[in-house]
Amino acid sequence: MSHMFNTDLDRDEAFARLTRLIKNTLGVDIAAVSTIDAGVQSFKSIDGLVLQQIPLDESFCRVPFRDGCTVIIPDTGRTEEFENHQLVTGAGFKAYVGVPLKTSSGAVFGTICGIHKSPRQFSERELIVLEDIANIAASELELREHANVDMLTGALTRRAFMRDSVRLKELLRRKGLSLTVLMVDVDHFKTINDKYGHASGDEVLRSVAMALKVNLREYDLLGRLGGEEFSVALEGDSDRASKIAERLRQAVSSLQFTFAEKQISVTASFGVAELRCDEDFDEALNRADTALYAAKSGGRDRIEIAAA
Ligand code: GH3
Ligand code: MG
Ligand code: MG
Repeated sequence: MSHMFNTDLDRDEAFARLTRLIKNTLGVDIAAVSTIDAGVQSFKSIDGLVLQQIPLDESFCRVPFRDGCTVIIPDTGRTEEFENHQLVTGAGFKAYVGVPLKTSSGAVFGTICGIHKSPRQFSERELIVLEDIANIAASELELREHANVDMLTGALTRRAFMRDSVRLKELLRRKGLSLTVLMVDVDHFKTINDKYGHASGDEVLRSVAMALKVNLREYDLLGRLGGEEFSVALEGDSDRASKIAERLRQAVSSLQFTFAEKQISVTASFGVAELRCDEDFDEALNRADTALYAAKSGGRDRIEIAAA
């Protein structure tokens, strides 16, 4: 799932404050907080330079990212790795300090760093401050991720799904493209909990979410709206979305589980509603929900399309 609609501009001030703090306490020319994913470094905040993203290969931060520990380069021109590097020879970045950002389970997902335009040392005290700032940045980023992503299934939380869908709606409308919303509800899910226990129910929810996710495109949104109820927002009219819903329906019903030595499968019902020209996202979601209800009373394991 893409995170392209996840930027909370109003809250990015938190990272701007941290880079300002790094610049002021260390007296460096440039300070940055960044996340690293798929070989790309993206700046949450950067002070002293205008930059949004760079390939990790072109960045000093590849070293703390690779080594998982604090890295100090007092004179970049005197290192084998960087002496001929464009940042050193071209941009004149002569000193670097970087601290990896780690999740609570220890995986490195970003860095904070300071860069200075003349060679310099960093004191023990400065490093302690920097490592504290790194911890603050890492918890802030992890908290945000938790607020947006449902822990059990990895789908967006209801709040994040609604927010991102409204943004997707605005983006698609500007481009003259249509948006369709799907409501998905697992059939007779309560029976699985009752017969095989809550943990088995949880496994079904995780697998259903995964089956939905792998059959969607990168920019489609998948949310868990509650219990065993999911929603998808995707680009396309209801014809196209119905084909996708059919693919999702088949993917869910092909899942196989073994509970209490029994082979179990599940099905899901779908409601599909294409957003009308001047309709709000919630109104389309309500129509998709009504269509879902019709799919349930029509026998379940089926797709119902809301009238245009
Ligand atoms: P229908 O086909 O009409 O949708 O029937 P259903 O049994 O799927 O629907 P119902 O709404 O009656 O039951 C949903 C159940 O989902 C009830 C609730 O205990 C259970 N549930 C909600 N959240 C979770 C969860 O996180 N894990 C598990 N295992 N069960 C959950
Ligand atoms: Mg259900
Ligand atoms: Mg339900």
